[in-house]
Amino acid sequence: MIKQTAKLEPQEVKVMNKAKCPDCDAELDVPVDTEKGEILSCPGCGLELEVKQVNGGCVDLQELTIEGEDWGE
Ligand SMILES: [Zn+2]
Repeated sequence: MIKQTAKLEPQEVKVMNKAKCPDCDAELDVPVDTEKGEILSCPGCGLELEVKQVNGGCVDLQELTIEGEDWGE
């Protein structure tokens, strides 16, 4: 068990990038230290989104597609 020492500050300043869900256009807060390939989930539709590109304050997200699933024919 990890015990977190919660420091509750009334105005915690967090630097966040903004990204948009490609599916429902909800705005996501993306931590600035997010790296390409990370998976975020959309608060709007619950979709899993992969970070495709981080370019300055601009984050590109793409719907996560699960590969390796063989459906057969
Ligand atoms: Zn969404």
